[in-house]
Amino acid sequence: MKNIEYGYRWNCAACGAENAYGLTSDEAEEYIRDWEEDNADSVAEGETGEGACDWWYNVTAEENDAHIEDKERCWKCNAVATKETRTDKAKWFDSVVDNLEKSS
Ligand SMILES: [Zn+2]
Repeated sequence: MKNIEYGYRWNCAACGAENAYGLTSDEAEEYIRDWEEDNADSVAEGETGEGACDWWYNVTAEENDAHIEDKERCWKCNAVATKETRTDKAKWFDSVVDNLEKSS
């Protein structure tokens, strides 16, 4: 399994192996450097590539089923991630949104 610095874990529906979605520390360094190059305006306002990386990989990616959207493959059996591999956090987040919609 990938040794990630930023991201989250999901379980393969086919073989049950734990998988990691995200970036290793080397990949994160590259992501942060690229982000800061591409977002000079935001950097000037005090934002950092590290903050952007953390926000996407540690906070919003899981809620957005990023590993399913990206059709990630299991490192062990090579099965593509399906809806069955949604994480508990993503399901929980959906139920919260549903409840908010019902009560408003
Ligand atoms: Zn698998």
